[in-house]
Amino acid sequence: AHLDRIAAVDPAVHAFLHVDTDGALAEAAASDARRSAGEPLSALDGVPIAVKDVLTTRGLPTTCGSKILEGWVPPYDATVVRRLREAGLPILGKTNMDEFAMGSSTEHSAYGPTRNPWDLDRIPGGSGGGSAAAVAAFEAPLAIGTDTGGSIRQPGAVTGTVGVKPTYGGVSRYGLVALANSLDQAGPVTRTVHDAALLHELIGGHDPLDSTSIDQPLPGLLDAVREGASGDLTGVRIGVVTELGGEGYQSGVLSRFRESVDLMVKAGAEVVEVSCPSFVHALATYYLILPAEASSNLAKFDAMRYGLRVVPEGDPSAEEVMRATRDAGFGDEVKRRIILGTYALSSGYYDAYYGQAQKVRTLITRDFDAAFGQVDVLVSPTAPTTAFKLGEKLDDPLAMYLNDLATIPANLSGVPGISVPSGLADEDGLPTGVQILAPALADDRVYRVGAALE
Ligand code: GLN
Repeated sequence: AHLDRIAAVDPAVHAFLHVDTDGALAEAAASDARRSAGEPLSALDGVPIAVKDVLTTRGLPTTCGSKILEGWVPPYDATVVRRLREAGLPILGKTNMDEFAMGSSTEHSAYGPTRNPWDLDRIPGGSGGGSAAAVAAFEAPLAIGTDTGGSIRQPGAVTGTVGVKPTYGGVSRYGLVALANSLDQAGPVTRTVHDAALLHELIGGHDPLDSTSIDQPLPGLLDAVREGASGDLTGVRIGVVTELGGEGYQSGVLSRFRESVDLMVKAGAEVVEVSCPSFVHALATYYLILPAEASSNLAKFDAMRYGLRVVPEGDPSAEEVMRATRDAGFGDEVKRRIILGTYALSSGYYDAYYGQAQKVRTLITRDFDAAFGQVDVLVSPTAPTTAFKLGEKLDDPLAMYLNDLATIPANLSGVPGISVPSGLADEDGLPTGVQILAPALADDRVYRVGAALE
């Protein structure tokens, strides 16, 4: 049924870069056979899933939305993908994304944009717009995204889906093609908070193949959903972040957010306002740390090891092949960030830019620590606006970067966050989202409060 749905709507939505019809059908048949034979089934056995094209999939193309990886078929599965396969989830295919996960609209994909199923003239968010659109358009019941600065949560908000960025280290990064190693985290993209918890429990937990993976059990996420779904938040202390609201936020987004807060109060939560003064520097900090890490990570695309190789006429040197390949293979946004990152890391500038950004990153973590001394979770709108029109911000990188104003602090500090739909904005009838953040390792709290809002 999902493959039929993909065939019917994906020519317009373009959520997928690759659909694995044969593989998905074979896996579905294998799951049916297990069921008929009375074998034990995993909680999500036979439930199809879409995977963002930044996670390696053995035998299936993995492009990261870039021409430089066109034609590359990885010889191994990411740990997240391996766990999906072991639990019997048929993989429908790989979803579209901004090139190397750089962007907030999926317009930076080298393979053309994904469109928002709510309005095909609008963006589905980014970088994981493909995963969010696939779930919103009923092409897949579940998807995997990755969130480096908001790429699961912001697409969730603008497509009316649920998106979770787990605690840093809570889900293995093995086989996740790195954008920024210290910020990246894979997580669930679903239609309900309950589905997200099921998927999170499946993909999360320790992995010896990722040196930053946390070696302790996940908190009970499904239990937290059950608790939250009862609608009782008595005893939960909730902080509304002063700095993540107000100026720059669309009025319809803010009114839906205030209604969500009212719901929390009605459910018995104690709501206070909390100030995190360093959050106003989060965007600037992120756009030094991220390009610095990305420029280093992308150095491996050297025309020798993966995908594309462009050989200029004559008898080119290795350096000329590398230059021609990187020039043809990378898009404008990727080149912009490589230049920013190498500049920030240059000798003489390192302390002024990268070093300074690392210090501000610590201040942001201290703000979180102080806030979580007072409250159990922090809340804000997920994205400052609803989905904008395709092309609207493409020529203005700063306007594009501002989409992640509210989501970036969590990545800088490694704390978990969820985006839950908060209703349609009055002025344009488009989806909005509320973000719930909790201390590192307390992912259960975001599920409890998220489930209470559903
Ligand atoms: N939009 C942000 C960026 O462009 C976040 C990307 C992400 O989370 N992958 O960097």
